[in-house]
Amino acid sequence: MTEREPWRYRCPEGHTNWQSRQSGIHHSEAPFYCMSCKDGDGLSPHFEKLTDAKTGKRVSGVQS
Ligand SMILES: [Zn+2]
Repeated sequence: MTEREPWRYRCPEGHTNWQSRQSGIHHSEAPFYCMSCKDGDGLSPHFEKLTDAKTGKRVSGVQS
C-alpha cells in the first residue's frame, strides 16, 4: 500500500477536511488550511502541522 491515506493526517482538531497550501499559492499563512475548522466556532482554520492519526505524532508534511 503505497497510496496516500488522506484520512490518516488530521488537523489539530482531528478533522480530515484540510488542504495543503504548500504548492502553487503564495501565502503568508500556515501551510495547511482546514475547511471544518473554518466552519467551526472560533477555530483558526490555519495550522502548521498535521497530526498523524496512526502514530499520534505531529508532522509538517505528508509523506507518501
Ligand atoms: Zn479542523
